[in-house]
Amino acid sequence: MQYISTRGGISPIPFTEAVMMGLAEDGGLLLPRTIPRVSSETYASWQDLSYPELAFEVMSRFIDDIPNSDLRELIDRSYATFDHPEITPLVHHGTLHILELFHGPTFAFKDVALQFLGNLFEYLLKKNDAVMNIIGATSGDTGSAAIYGVRGKEKINIFILHPHKRVSPVQEQQMTTVTDANVFNIAIRGTFDDGQAIVKAIFNDIDFKKQYNLGAINSINWARVLAQVVYYVHSCLHINRHEHDKAVDFAVPTGNFGDIFAGYIAKRMLPEGTIRKLLLASNTNDILTRFVAHGDYSLGSVVATSSPSMDIQAASNFERYLYYLLDENPVHTTAAMSQFTETGRLNLSSSCDQIKRDFVATAATEQEVLETIQLFYKEYGYILDPHTAVGVHAALIHQQKGIPVICLSTAHPAKFGETVSKAIGIPPEMPHALAALADKKSRCELMDADRNLIQDFIRHHALEQQ
Ligand SMILES: *Cc1c(COP(=O)(O)O)cnc(C)c1O
Repeated sequence: MQYISTRGGISPIPFTEAVMMGLAEDGGLLLPRTIPRVSSETYASWQDLSYPELAFEVMSRFIDDIPNSDLRELIDRSYATFDHPEITPLVHHGTLHILELFHGPTFAFKDVALQFLGNLFEYLLKKNDAVMNIIGATSGDTGSAAIYGVRGKEKINIFILHPHKRVSPVQEQQMTTVTDANVFNIAIRGTFDDGQAIVKAIFNDIDFKKQYNLGAINSINWARVLAQVVYYVHSCLHINRHEHDKAVDFAVPTGNFGDIFAGYIAKRMLPEGTIRKLLLASNTNDILTRFVAHGDYSLGSVVATSSPSMDIQAASNFERYLYYLLDENPVHTTAAMSQFTETGRLNLSSSCDQIKRDFVATAATEQEVLETIQLFYKEYGYILDPHTAVGVHAALIHQQKGIPVICLSTAHPAKFGETVSKAIGIPPEMPHALAALADKKSRCELMDADRNLIQDFIRHHALEQQ
């Protein structure tokens, strides 16, 4: 499989080069040249595969430059860190099916992709005899999933900036108790935006970026999308084992459009009609809901909510869907993206029919999130985290008789105990591994939000190409 850019400015490259490139060199996003279709016979033959076996079948259709045995080994190792035998189990409550994506080491769905990406980076760097230094800023969750993805790996160092005392105690512990020699936590005296601005400035230092082979942890890497396609297929198979030939809907709590875009790829890959609709669920930051409803993609300002991992306006993976919406035309995609950069808005109302064939969308208010957590606890004794509740709220509104809805559960409720307590009056039970963090040794550098100081620190501790 060859990969192309949404902006048409690079010649096609194989999978491993697309992974190492991250963002396409022309500023676009990388996509497979075609989306492989799986026949009904093949789909049926996957019924009894384990999660890692299925991951191999799905991923190998997009990868032809890693030997099969190596790919199998990478997949096996990536999912051995999950604490559930089914990796992403489906639990059933009333008419809804909750797909628990939080059984990885940091109790959030980003582990599904980042455990794989960390192993993949290490494998490719060893092969090319190269090193990488990953730099990122986090407001909480992505940082720990990235750190756990690469801890202890050869050829990779990671530097994560977080705002000192402005992440939750659990989030801070999750990051700073990882004391592997290749992990550097930097608490800055400042905000998340200060951290992000510093990281951006360091990436813009082209000589520095080249010299230390800087890598990013954002959600635009194609390998992250690909790893996420697997659980859509896995959960469809699970439903179809009991309800033959039934189309399913997915409800997806959405921020950067990475997770739901993986669902879009799965929808196009699986036999026609396997996935009916993707229910796009936003919190108060509803740019994507407005896009689905009216074709109006226009920036608002970011509002802080109880589902912070979805407090996003411009969604970094949106350009991938836009490319398909504009008939895979890179010239039109480039023009649309530069218009969006200049004016902060895009009018895609002429594409509304197409958008509505793929998506239905709903935004949840803060009150609705609390009510959904409450309702689900009362009815089923099951505790939703606030992100998952945004998706379940959309599912309850849009579910149709006879069509199963799978709701993606993107975080363990214990990570957002305050909101849960507010909704149901008691805090969720802490998993042992999270509770134990408080007694662990931690390592973290406290620094002023000064770009030069931080860049010097990184220079001093970065891996260098021999
Ligand atoms: C990242 C994240 C999301 C949003 O996923 P996107 O791929 O950015 O749309 C939802 N819930 C949680 C808990 C997350 O960490």
